[in-house]
Amino acid sequence: MCGIVGFAGHHQAAPILLDGLSKLEYRGYDSAGLAVRDGENPAEVVKAVGRLKNLAEKTDEGKALPGCFGIGHTRWATHGEPSRTNAHPHVSGNCTGSGSGKVESEVVGVHNGIIENYKELKEKLERHGYVFYSETDTEVVVKLVDYYYKKYIHTPIDAIAKTMVRVRGSYALELMFNDHPGEIWVARKDSPMIIGTADNETYVASDVPAILKYTRSVYYIDNLQCAKITPGEVHFYDLNGDEVTLEPTEIKWDAEAAEKGGYEHFMIKEIYDQPKAVGDTLTSVIHDGKIDLSEVGLSDDELKEISSVTMVACGSAWHVGMALQYVIEDLTRVPVRVELASEFRYRNPILDPKQLVIVISQSGETADTLEALRLAKKHGIKTLAVVNVVGSSIAREADNVFYTLAGPEIAVATTKAYSAQLAALYTFAVQLGFAKGTFAQSDYERYISELNTIPAKISKILEDKERLQWFASKFAHKHDVFFIGRGIDYAVSLEGSLKMKEISYIHSEAYAAGELKHGTISLIEDGTLVIGVLTQNELYEKTVSNMVECKSRGAYLCGLATYGKYEVEDHCNFVTYVPTIDTHFAASLAVVPLQLLGYYIAVARGLDVDKPRNLAKSVTVE
Ligand code: GLU
Repeated sequence: MCGIVGFAGHHQAAPILLDGLSKLEYRGYDSAGLAVRDGENPAEVVKAVGRLKNLAEKTDEGKALPGCFGIGHTRWATHGEPSRTNAHPHVSGNCTGSGSGKVESEVVGVHNGIIENYKELKEKLERHGYVFYSETDTEVVVKLVDYYYKKYIHTPIDAIAKTMVRVRGSYALELMFNDHPGEIWVARKDSPMIIGTADNETYVASDVPAILKYTRSVYYIDNLQCAKITPGEVHFYDLNGDEVTLEPTEIKWDAEAAEKGGYEHFMIKEIYDQPKAVGDTLTSVIHDGKIDLSEVGLSDDELKEISSVTMVACGSAWHVGMALQYVIEDLTRVPVRVELASEFRYRNPILDPKQLVIVISQSGETADTLEALRLAKKHGIKTLAVVNVVGSSIAREADNVFYTLAGPEIAVATTKAYSAQLAALYTFAVQLGFAKGTFAQSDYERYISELNTIPAKISKILEDKERLQWFASKFAHKHDVFFIGRGIDYAVSLEGSLKMKEISYIHSEAYAAGELKHGTISLIEDGTLVIGVLTQNELYEKTVSNMVECKSRGAYLCGLATYGKYEVEDHCNFVTYVPTIDTHFAASLAVVPLQLLGYYIAVARGLDVDKPRNLAKSVTVE
């Protein structure tokens, strides 16, 4: 969650740091701070609670903080309430007031993550005379670095390496040492961090959008590595303090893709990016009418050997898994399980050596999914990661990677990454069935040509958005919404319901339509909005019956059907249509009106669509 940035160069650091933090705003936070150093002078710290603009105002857009070296942080509090004292940066000495001002201490630092054994370390440091001013685990780690720095004859590398051995938990840590002007030190374990260089300057950030404007050449510092950052140079070290060589990765995203490009919110821009995100993801593996997963590392011979599939993910990525379980099982007859990463990692899963574990994560940094991946690898099971961010932790640790080509996704509520994940896994499902011979060559060709129609069909749905906008304004005041469907339509309902609740704060639930009468139907009252997803021909009548049961109890019915099923208007109060497509792939179309609905309802309610309360984009804590 939250973000860190750093800069070592020849330009003024503070405006660059503020700009970088603004690109990480989507990660969610409650306070922010900067520490900037001007030559040999000690660093100066400024912190502010609330939105980044408070920090920008306090520093006169950075102009009030001179210096070419600095670190910055947006905090998503885990230890200690959001307050100025608890905000980062933290210092190794005592601090006066709420912590802003010139740093008198040796070490100043910012941190993303959680130090699990901070209590025991704090007690140890207290025994050595350290006094704590905040409730954070971060202050503990900064003071621990100071402790080892003083103990080990003043070398940052030894102090950091020793600290890394002692702390448990996750961290992306940036530090400045008073004795070492001209240097920033960083260390990392399980929290994202990238380092980019350009024109004799060096940038540090939690995520690519923060530095895309300045450079595309980035290093992905590895777990349990630290680095010394100077203008235009980075030296990496392992835990023994030995220098290691890392190669930079070229980021292909263009800087504009991380801007709003004239749209009011990132979310609506990203909804509109979907035809391209899906199209690019499909064409990355469909060549000359055939699916080729060799770049993903899966040959047909390997696919043939797969006995079962377990998909592990969180949130919307888990909903992708839910949709794909129907598709994969139906097309390939290979058994599929879909698991929440936070559950999977804490049970003792029965894994068969011939199975494939697929982990799905936009950021490639989702903490629970990363641990689930490690668990599968520990059991010796082959793993495939479906991720969007090149070089992310999950991408680096999985045996095989299928990159979705969605470009940077900034809005907290995912849209285009979800759609790109569906597209990627459809091609996997079709190729798996082909390799196993579960359908004819002619079906294979038909599936591929149907897949290729998805981008244009999504564009068609987007052309029709006004009706949904009108419907959203009418229902913006609702308290409860139910999404129902069967099979793939149930999986789509899960995603539609999540879109609704996460950004519009309206209570919503998704139910497998047939389950409603086993309890939940008691919640239906006069005017409750029930949205029925009706793209699966064989299940259509069953779901319509369940909708009608709700109508008899006062519900207002909205149907989401495919063109041609016009008789649905006899039952529903409002109907929205999507183009027809092979029903296996219908989730890609049906989800779009639900994304629009969630978006327009949140806008009508005047909410901060891109940064919903309490949420952060990539959940790097468990
Ligand atoms: N655990 C630290 C804190 O509560 C860092 C949280 C973060 O990642 O922002 O201050």
